[in-house]
Amino acid sequence: MNTKDSERVKRAVEMAKQAHEGQFRKTGEPYIIHPMAVKKILEEWGMDEDTIIAGILHDTVEDTDLTLADIKNEFGESVAFLVDGVTKLSTARTGMRDIDTYLPETKDNFLRLMIALGDDIRVLIIKLADRLHNLRTLSALPPDKQKKIAKETLEVFAPLADRLNMGLLRVEMADLSFKYVDPKRYDYLKDLIEKYNKSAAKSLKKIEEEISVAFKKEKIKFELSGRVKSVYSLHKKLAKHNQNINEIYDLIALRVIVDDITDCYLALGIIHSLYTPMGGRIKDYIAMPKQNGYQSLHTTVITKDKRVVEFQIRTKEMHEYAERGLAASFYYNEQKVTENYKKGKIEHLPTNLLWITELQMTAAKLREGKKVDYKKLKLNLFADKIFVYTPKGDIIDLPKGSLPLDFAYRLHSEIGDHVIGVKINGKMSNLNKKLEQGDIVEILTSKNQTPKSSWLGKIITAHARQKLMHRLNADKK
Ligand code: MN
Repeated sequence: MNTKDSERVKRAVEMAKQAHEGQFRKTGEPYIIHPMAVKKILEEWGMDEDTIIAGILHDTVEDTDLTLADIKNEFGESVAFLVDGVTKLSTARTGMRDIDTYLPETKDNFLRLMIALGDDIRVLIIKLADRLHNLRTLSALPPDKQKKIAKETLEVFAPLADRLNMGLLRVEMADLSFKYVDPKRYDYLKDLIEKYNKSAAKSLKKIEEEISVAFKKEKIKFELSGRVKSVYSLHKKLAKHNQNINEIYDLIALRVIVDDITDCYLALGIIHSLYTPMGGRIKDYIAMPKQNGYQSLHTTVITKDKRVVEFQIRTKEMHEYAERGLAASFYYNEQKVTENYKKGKIEHLPTNLLWITELQMTAAKLREGKKVDYKKLKLNLFADKIFVYTPKGDIIDLPKGSLPLDFAYRLHSEIGDHVIGVKINGKMSNLNKKLEQGDIVEILTSKNQTPKSSWLGKIITAHARQKLMHRLNADKK
């Protein structure tokens, strides 16, 4: 236990130890090792105390005699809410098969389901810490389980980390997983990257010198660092470029970190005056951030010794955010709020980014020591959606209030046209029954059934309406 732990955290550790007493991990170690490792990861990410406590207790409600009420009594509503969220997430996953055996949209919807169920960004962050430790100790599991977990991580958890712009985490998760999914390819690419970096070391050094001289002349304060491309992202890129490594322009990348946005653009100008920029390879993610809020200027240049090098130019703040994502908001207490957000210059952000902005605003309050309403951390991203399951376990997203026919037409118009009934969670139901989050919906069909115009009153989605109308009109003719 950490000596600087607060009394509350110490109590949580004691509670978890008692609850998990007698349980063991697949590694043979006492179970408590796992929640303690999750605690440590959350501390490294700089999360708040409630999140750390919930991390310590995250497996107790599901796996021990401890109840949510016990946790609420001892640590209050907020911790109980977080533990409940993590438990719900893992319940949603129990019984899920190998990720490969689902429809492609299920993979996507699984991620969205997590975000919807997560409800509070901190639930997802705990879940990510949990998954990270399980990955780090994956070698203790039998090979088939290793592959299943590794694949699921590549398909769902690493993209989730990416959505939260937690770059360091995404890379660690992806590379750890890829090693299990395709060990030969992993070793091959790792070796390739190392060789490439070795061969480029000399010219990189020269570039660094040239850049330094030029920046000092213009009195720009900067930090320079090389960035090693991760194995998994090289694998993905090679697949996109017919395995032609000569088309991968960011095998060598240099990061330039400067003080402010003006210096970012100045730095870009200087780099372009030193080296020849490649047409079409300049990307301004400062003016137009990526969906996950990532900001940087990217440019690819050809150096004097004919090497292709990518530069990524950003401020310190953008850098922290690129590596730690939303967790960074909790961590950098002294960090200034992004000037743009403070000045309210957020109009150009697409709506799907507004939730990030809101989180950043809240984080800013945290830093200033102001009281924060944690309900603000709720992700209303999918507030108008529900996620329901097919009997096979595929996940379908629908607008709130959807009815069985909406679901049926969403699966396939052939299914929609032949509906004779519906089972919801194993019981016979009717076509007027509103579907609820998490329902398992089984559509009963008969090939003798034909669509009825009365069905129009039992549909709320435009998609289903369109399909049904189409069929009704065809029948009329
Ligand atoms: Mn766990």
